Amino acid sequence: MQRTPLIAANWKMNGSAALVEEMTSALAGVATEQIQVLICPPATLLCRFTAPINFALGGQTLSHEVSGAFTGELSAALLIEAGASYVIVGHSERRSLNAESDQLIAAKLMRAVVSGLTPVLCVGETLQQRQQEKTQQVIARQLDAVYASQPELLAKSVIAYEPVWAIGTGESATPEQAQQTHAFIRQHLAQYDAKAAEKVKLLYGGSVNADNCAALFKQADIDGALVGGASLKAAEFAQICSSA
Ligand code: PEP
Repeated sequence: MQRTPLIAANWKMNGSAALVEEMTSALAGVATEQIQVLICPPATLLCRFTAPINFALGGQTLSHEVSGAFTGELSAALLIEAGASYVIVGHSERRSLNAESDQLIAAKLMRAVVSGLTPVLCVGETLQQRQQEKTQQVIARQLDAVYASQPELLAKSVIAYEPVWAIGTGESATPEQAQQTHAFIRQHLAQYDAKAAEKVKLLYGGSVNADNCAALFKQADIDGALVGGASLKAAEFAQICSSA
């Protein structure tokens, strides 16, 4: 099965109007006929991307509520109005720093899909969980929380495997480690919907850079990357996109 690669940037609480300009020019030189590119900047920068751009835009989180008295929150509709068509859901930093539970993440993902945003669901184990050989158990729990009761959402999702120990540490999973977990994820998802599991894009995230991306992209079940630190350097991110 041929899945179009997706390379996504998560700027987190970084970036600037100047980086918007720089990234737009750097990506203009990337052939995006064969790959998809997604930039998830801070929400305040979404409107700074002005046409023509050859990539999609996304939010980094959203509220599970539709609208109302939720100071500081962002709804799916607001993100869409600002230009987003994707949204990251369940990033490990939101899970740990904002205490987002599996249940809340499931509600957010459903809100995203119902509103017309494509969610990029992040799953992954901590170092301690890996050392205790609980990687598959943790990821199965994170996936089940979303798809066991709402299997129809799978066909509308992108999933990012992001081992927590590899995020921002400079220590990427090896291509073999990543492939092993991606294969497990695809196999686990098949129990909800075998056809959707075959089609769903599985991104790898965790210290991806211009030097290690090509080996990761060669793996059968790795369909692209979610890139943090290296997505703040326009030339390097463009190079990662061109390697996919
Ligand atoms: C991330 O936070 O999603 C991420 C993958 O970060 P980094 O590439 O910096 O490890």
